Amino acid sequence: MSINEYSLSELIGGGRRRAKIQKTKIDWCDYTWNCASGCLNNCPYCYARKIALRFPSVYPNGFEPTFYPARYSKSLPKKPSIIFVNSMFDIFTDSSYKYYPDLPPHTIATQHVIGLIFDKAKKNKQHFFLALSKLPFPYWFNIPKPKNFWIGYSLTKESEDIDRTDLRKFDFISAEPLDIDLLFKRLKEIIKPRPNIVQHKRWVIIGCQTNPIVIDTDRKAILKLYEQLKKADIPLFIKNPLREKLDVDITEYPREILNHLKRR
Ligand code: SF4
Repeated sequence: MSINEYSLSELIGGGRRRAKIQKTKIDWCDYTWNCASGCLNNCPYCYARKIALRFPSVYPNGFEPTFYPARYSKSLPKKPSIIFVNSMFDIFTDSSYKYYPDLPPHTIATQHVIGLIFDKAKKNKQHFFLALSKLPFPYWFNIPKPKNFWIGYSLTKESEDIDRTDLRKFDFISAEPLDIDLLFKRLKEIIKPRPNIVQHKRWVIIGCQTNPIVIDTDRKAILKLYEQLKKADIPLFIKNPLREKLDVDITEYPREILNHLKRR
């Protein structure tokens, strides 16, 4: 994602004065919530870090992992919606908690925050919550999550896919910036279900690097990916600007989410 995907009101809406979460320009969800910000991973293309450093009045601790109780308490919309939990932080932020125990008190105590986030999802059953992580330590999978909450893995570059975490543990995969070779390499894990871990089919979201736009794949490869996912009955969502640049209008959602929201 890029800064371009955020409206100014959404960015300012991260502040203390607004009581409601804001609509988002991110095209696969309706709202972003962001009760926390910051991450100590050092991805060079990180849009969230750029935003946090650009708006110090909204993110007073820069990009250090920080939990904001007032933002946590913001009210959610009435209409059943897809809510992206963490466009400004990593849901597990485990590396910071584990390897930087001396961080100041505003630092996210990960487990506690995850408990709070799950609690909010439980109390707002009409919505569907989606969170992403690049730091999936196996420990976190032991925390029971609500039915209206999916956790996805950010599958980016091969060099960042160090742990080679088992993708079968995740509810969805977000490949952005897309490395099509890596995605094909790991497609088997996405396609083959492991019923004792995940009952439902997964979902794949792909997008290119933005700001500046970098697309290192072509239409043919994307259509091949689509065909393989289709055979496995796994929906694909292609984000803009990749969708427009390659002229592939594919914006599918999982049935589980649509049924939950009573959308078609
Ligand atoms: S894991 Fe996500 S939030 Fe953390 S630095 Fe990388 S892109 Fe940014």
